[in-house]
Amino acid sequence: MVEIRRFLHQHPELSFQEVQSADYIKSFYDKLGVEVKGNVGGNGVVAKIYGAKPGKTVALRADFDALPIQDEKDVPYKSLIPGVMHACGHDGHTATLLVLAKVLHENRAELEGNYVMIHQHAEEYAPGGAAPMIADGCLEGVDVIFGTHLWALNPTGTIQYRVGPVMAASDRFEIIIQGKGGHGAQPHKTKDSIVIASQLVMNLQQIVSRRVNPIDSAVVTVGSFVAENAFNVIADRARLIGTVRTFNEEVRADIEAEIERIIKGTCYASDTTYEFIYEKGYPAVVNHKAETEFLIQCAGSVPEVDTVEETEPHMGGEDFSYYLQKVPGTFFFTGAKPDGVDEAYPHHHPKFDINEKAMLIAAKTLGLAAINYQKTNTLSTLVKQ
Ligand code: MN
Repeated sequence: MVEIRRFLHQHPELSFQEVQSADYIKSFYDKLGVEVKGNVGGNGVVAKIYGAKPGKTVALRADFDALPIQDEKDVPYKSLIPGVMHACGHDGHTATLLVLAKVLHENRAELEGNYVMIHQHAEEYAPGGAAPMIADGCLEGVDVIFGTHLWALNPTGTIQYRVGPVMAASDRFEIIIQGKGGHGAQPHKTKDSIVIASQLVMNLQQIVSRRVNPIDSAVVTVGSFVAENAFNVIADRARLIGTVRTFNEEVRADIEAEIERIIKGTCYASDTTYEFIYEKGYPAVVNHKAETEFLIQCAGSVPEVDTVEETEPHMGGEDFSYYLQKVPGTFFFTGAKPDGVDEAYPHHHPKFDINEKAMLIAAKTLGLAAINYQKTNTLSTLVKQ
């Protein structure tokens, strides 16, 4: 696992450009003599392992894309590609799943059921790789799916789970306020887009505080405000860009409508016009109850796991959500804090790194879940779509 992970770490590829990584994964399976298919919904790779005895079909998913970040670590396995880095641990996910697949394949004579290894491209960049891979059939015949994220901020030896929403829906919006530019000394002949957009930024703060039920969680963040101009000129237009995070589809739709209502009102009051673009990212990751409770049992019996605990929901997005809309399953976090540090660098940081021992923990937990699932009655009553 360490060898594979370090190779991938040195050769990262951006979302939707993971051609060599996909080839690497595919040839790993080819060498083992495992049935494998490339170009699934893009650069996705899907391998299938057939146990000798009949049983259920379990899918396991690992993503394999990297990020547009310069690797600033001082380690022998540092990225060789300028400006591209595995800064989220997807290299570790891939190494975990490949070696687990090898073990399952070598023991197939004793196994019940079938195992579908979903190597997903483009998790980091919406619209993502999960949806096209599903459209291309990667979930056909699948009864359940499990996935994990190595999490450098949690101690190694920890597994974190959550029933229900665990990662947020992540959307992007863009607002352009069209005012009327003019001389800085003659404001009465202009419509000052900076003043209006400033009002708008403040008015948007009322959505979460006054419109969303306090029991529900949501974030509306304006991350960019641009109205560049000379010091003595009144800005003709201002552009705001931001993100919305939610865990519930109803809240998500309400917030989109509220944003537009507030823009409309603010522009009406100032007699200006606007453009509003709302781009939906991934929906929330919503874990199924029975499969999550099953996973807790499996994680607890891995010798290297000392803590199995509930996590708070994460506000980050993940396109694992699409799989869980089609089949029951759960997405959990495997602690991967490097040894000997007080505080790990967060995911997407130029010095991000994982504890490679966590890959074994992830593999054992996923492997136990896959094999033990054969011994359960079908857990969830979710109707397959
Ligand atoms: Mn990630």
